[in-house]
Amino acid sequence: MSSRFDSIVRCSAGHLFTTKWMALGSFKAIRLGPVRYQRCPVGHHRSLIRRVDPGSLSRQERATAARIRDTSVI
Ligand SMILES: [Zn+2]
Repeated sequence: MSSRFDSIVRCSAGHLFTTKWMALGSFKAIRLGPVRYQRCPVGHHRSLIRRVDPGSLSRQERATAARIRDTSVI
């Protein structure tokens, strides 16, 4: 299931995954504009993540990101 809040993001280590990114109301994550600090489900580490324009990714990168979803409640 994807929703309009789902965004492809990249952590500072270069991992791609999908997370919910809402304009308002994120109490667990520190929001710094387009950058957020949260757990990365790929590397199992905490990292700064930033939104990625899906159009800038290859089809394979988008597929990779779509398979990995941050399931934690934000
Ligand atoms: Zn990572």
